[in-house]
Amino acid sequence: MDELELLVDLHVRNERQGPGSADDTRRALALTGIRPDAHLSIADVGCGTGASALVLAQELGAPVRALDMLEAFVDRARARAEDSGLADLVHAEVAQMEDLPIAADSLDLLWSEGAIYNMGFAEGVRAWRPLLKPAGVLAVSDLTWTTPARPADVDAHWSAIYPGVATAGEKICILEDAGYAPLGFFFLPRSSWDAYYGPLRAGAADFRARHGASEAAEAILAEEEKEQRLYAERGEWFSYGFFVARRIDGA
Ligand code: SAM
Repeated sequence: MDELELLVDLHVRNERQGPGSADDTRRALALTGIRPDAHLSIADVGCGTGASALVLAQELGAPVRALDMLEAFVDRARARAEDSGLADLVHAEVAQMEDLPIAADSLDLLWSEGAIYNMGFAEGVRAWRPLLKPAGVLAVSDLTWTTPARPADVDAHWSAIYPGVATAGEKICILEDAGYAPLGFFFLPRSSWDAYYGPLRAGAADFRARHGASEAAEAILAEEEKEQRLYAERGEWFSYGFFVARRIDGA
């Protein structure tokens, strides 16, 4: 298996592939002001194995296009939708977030948890805005500094991995510059990181057993452990911020 296949194998059995929870999804949904309506047009971009898409479909009673570039995650999201009795509402598809198969001006709600970093926050919010209806709503979670300044080692670690990491205020300015009006923001609680790291830790032994003495598998586990240690020791300096904003047009 190559590195991507190993990463998929490590994550595909888990409910989520990043920090978050059903409560966080519901809290962000409340900030959108969107009410249940079967005619809503919704996309969940970088949906992973479908956790947030399932919550959105359940809460809004509307169809949700769950989009991810990885077929194994999309298959799992589809299976979860079937198991949850939501197969009629959750439509999982393979798609690239840089080239979404979505018509311009068509979405009431574009959702994306922990995935926009693959494009970069600024690039993603700019590229996705035209897909929203006028006054359509964007809801994204993304790695965010909790304070205006932080220890150099924490800054160096995340800035190297994700140059788009910034404070909440800076990200809200990016949204405003890109043609959005902010509707709300919150940081994910610590429990939402534990909910992500816990299953990863619990699955590590089985992962190791499946991949024997693979150096690549050990390297992946070592990286995961390093990240978890950083969060345990320095997690007060960063979290995922959940940003909810409405498309605005003209002045
Ligand atoms: N939203 C899910 C969650 O919170 O559990 C998954 C978050 S995971 C950190 C990021 C997701 O983005 C992965 O499922 C990955 O496959 C997907 N992804 C990465 N690059 C992508 C791209 N270019 N287009 C579509 N999906 C992508």
